[in-house]
Amino acid sequence: MRTLVQTPLPIDPHIAELVAHVRAQRTAVIVAPPGSGKTTRVPPAMTALGRTILLQPRRIAARALARRIADERRWSIGEEVGWQIRFERRFTDRTKLLVATEGILTARLQSDPLLTDFNVVILDEFHERSIHADLALALVQQAAASREDLAVIVMSATIDAAPVAAFLGGARVFDIAAPRFPIEVRHRPNISVAAAVRELLPSAKGDVLCFLPGAREIDRAENDLANIDALVLPLHGSLDVDAQERALAPASRRKIILATNVAETSLTVEGVTDVVDSGLHKVLRFDPETAVDHLVLERIPLDSAQQRAGRAGRTAPGRATRLWDERDILRPQREPEVRRVDLAAPALDIVAWGGDPRTFAWFERPQESRIDAALALLEMLGATDGRKLTPIGEQLRRFPLHPRLGRVMVAANGSEDAVEIVERLSEGKRAPHPAFGTPLPPGEGSGVRGVAREIASIAKRLFADRYRQHVDDETLRRALLAGFPDRVAMRRESGWLLASGTGATLARYFVIGGDFIVVLDITGETIRNAVAIEREWLTPTKREVVHTIDSGRVRAVERLWYHGILLHEQQVRADANESARLLAQQVAIDPELLQRVAFAELTIDWPPIVEQAVAGRSRTDDVDLAAFLPYDLRRKLDSLAPRSLPLPSGRSTRLEYREDGSVIGSAKLQELFGLAETPRIGPHHTPITLALLSPNGRPVQVTQDLRSFWNSTYAEVRRELRARYPKHPWPDDPWTATPTHRTKRR
Ligand code: ADP
Ligand code: MG
Repeated sequence: MRTLVQTPLPIDPHIAELVAHVRAQRTAVIVAPPGSGKTTRVPPAMTALGRTILLQPRRIAARALARRIADERRWSIGEEVGWQIRFERRFTDRTKLLVATEGILTARLQSDPLLTDFNVVILDEFHERSIHADLALALVQQAAASREDLAVIVMSATIDAAPVAAFLGGARVFDIAAPRFPIEVRHRPNISVAAAVRELLPSAKGDVLCFLPGAREIDRAENDLANIDALVLPLHGSLDVDAQERALAPASRRKIILATNVAETSLTVEGVTDVVDSGLHKVLRFDPETAVDHLVLERIPLDSAQQRAGRAGRTAPGRATRLWDERDILRPQREPEVRRVDLAAPALDIVAWGGDPRTFAWFERPQESRIDAALALLEMLGATDGRKLTPIGEQLRRFPLHPRLGRVMVAANGSEDAVEIVERLSEGKRAPHPAFGTPLPPGEGSGVRGVAREIASIAKRLFADRYRQHVDDETLRRALLAGFPDRVAMRRESGWLLASGTGATLARYFVIGGDFIVVLDITGETIRNAVAIEREWLTPTKREVVHTIDSGRVRAVERLWYHGILLHEQQVRADANESARLLAQQVAIDPELLQRVAFAELTIDWPPIVEQAVAGRSRTDDVDLAAFLPYDLRRKLDSLAPRSLPLPSGRSTRLEYREDGSVIGSAKLQELFGLAETPRIGPHHTPITLALLSPNGRPVQVTQDLRSFWNSTYAEVRRELRARYPKHPWPDDPWTATPTHRTKRR
């Protein structure tokens, strides 16, 4: 072990006060520039209050910082100080200070919501605002609210400390200044990092720290700097521990460190006097085209640029070379991850913890609609059931993947084939997977080497006996359906219909058989990656029976839907209640019946009568409303406004009830012989208006006064018509003749 003298750091004079304050108040927010000693000095001091957990956003930093603390304190790793990151635990019951990644805390809180193992939680690098840090803060705050002996400390190199201090219930903010040396900032747009290094090297006074967006860019720069007269040292998360240590350790030669933003504020590299900043970083961002989050290359915000430049002026005046145009405008602040990523994973964490994402006390509450969408997706993936975690949800959470991709892994029971697909999808590779389309161009497949290895080893542990190295094509296709159940499309006459209900077409380079696909990548309306699936694999999301009425007849059709896609349609027997409901809407009450009711001055409550009349019917023609009038009403109606009038001849005549209140009947005049009184009906004894017809049915006279007709007009009519209709009776005396509708008997 190296012997180290603890160098004085800007934070040192404040440590005693900090510990005393946290002992009394159980909370504090500490803001100090990188290199001030926050991470290496505050957590060990806090162990005076009890077991302490220090949370870091990055694994590489967690490990390096645990070592650094151990060195400074002459503590042993795994004893007084330890670390826990995914797959690596170096601690015991005696460990006073545990350095862990933020996700570890979220996982621990599932089994121990009050975090009883610890007395102090320190969230470091909070300005990075990873979704895990946001969640960890909110969860820990809940635990602290119900415990007297849990302290919560937030540390940051650069934040607007007010919101987090308020969230912690009015925590005191310790803003610690540190000496800073002047930095000369130069802009060199359009040159590479390697070119910038070559340019500045002759005049460099110390080591050079370069910021690049990722491992691939670092590899490339390392190649470009192959024969330079200096130690070229990469520093990023997928390196092994030794390589990481080499980058941080002092060296006898000038160092050129090629780092991702892990060196921005998390790790301090000593002796840097020159910074080269590519101005780029990779951030996780939800991509609606692939429906998962991807790392995307973006311009850094201004506050990152300032942090990066500051790394050159920690121990002496320095220089920063920015590889962008001075006139470019950078966004002022970094955007917290909670605004960028899909909320399915954090929502699942909250559910697993026993909370409800809708009512959860988020540090920064996301939009309601985004929470709803996340919960709907989890339900669809089978990860949750109501507000409960399902066994599937339990399993898919183990993967450091978007829940959709975790679901794919679970459905495929692991397997190298699934790992490969999932890795590509999580990286957002735009070309189709070789198994399903054109192969990727060479060289594109080597981005995040660590991820595949890690997913595979989780899968092996999780599935144990069920794990297979290879699974068949159908299993993979079904697994993709399980992860993207809402992204199904069905072939139609031209193009495809998406489950969302909109249309799309396949990219020209794509040839796919079959009628159903799962869309894995869609840009605008162009499907750029998809796999074929079978119709039989789709479980309808909705079954409906639709009743329609068509020319008076009720028909029923059963439809099976898969979201917006109509899978199947067939005629079925109409439901009696539905039929009656539809008929009732269609049955217009017979106008004649209504006129009679009005004439009779009756009041009728129609809806229940219609309801009874349509029950069990499937055609409007079969509906007889009058037959369903209550007995009393029907009798009244028949007597006050009869449908027809009996005639002396024995026949009857249909009565017509007119709007104006008159009632009309008609009869051949021979049928009325002997009838003197005009019949009267209704509540007002309305005389029926009789149309008297000739034998050929022509009206001869319309009258309400039969008596005067017989007495006067009849004689005249008889004279006129007797010759024309000799076979009909034309008696002299209509009063005594037998009424008839027939001709004379021979
Ligand atoms: P802060 O958290 O405020 O950014 P740190 O506690 O990480 O500061 O670092 C404080 C100082 O300790 C740094 O300025 C650096 O000099 C030194 N230091 C930290 N980690 C290492 C390491 N792994 N190797 C060498 N020096 C280190
Ligand atoms: Mg730190």
